Amino acid sequence: MTRPDDDAQRLEDERWMRMAIEVAKSKGSDPSSSPLGCVIILEGKVIAAERNQTHELPDATAHAEMMAIRRGCEGSGSMELRSATLYSTLQPCGMCTMASIWSKVGRVVYGAGRDDVHPMYFEAKHVDTLRFISDAYRDDIVIEGGCLAQLCAELYYGPDDDVPEDEQGNL
Ligand SMILES: [Zn+2]
Repeated sequence: MTRPDDDAQRLEDERWMRMAIEVAKSKGSDPSSSPLGCVIILEGKVIAAERNQTHELPDATAHAEMMAIRRGCEGSGSMELRSATLYSTLQPCGMCTMASIWSKVGRVVYGAGRDDVHPMYFEAKHVDTLRFISDAYRDDIVIEGGCLAQLCAELYYGPDDDVPEDEQGNL
């Protein structure tokens, strides 16, 4: 049984996750273009909507979440994004999780998780953020996964897909 509040929250989450999916698809929906999308919502308003730009810039740290946190801080004129919710189409890596902690984002909601996509997305550099966060010094950040997981997973190579070696890299 879900309560009305839970339903409202779920619908709200799905609404913003759909936007993150659209942002991810802004450069096409081929998994080889590594589409990741992130939106940050503060007090019901979009303060950032970014996709990963590691190859374009090029910048190894230009993950969608990092870009969105930068834009969000610039736009709001504050380095603290307290009570903001960050939506990401894929479970954030260790770097982006730490960036969420440093920027004081209140809640992180992601779509596809480790088991929904090819292992390439979570090799070595990708710490399991859920375990990671339980050891972090901040305990007032909430991380929830599985929002529109199936729709988000369709953006990426599947768990059993045969991915060419040269398409595996920093996303
Ligand atoms: Zn990341």
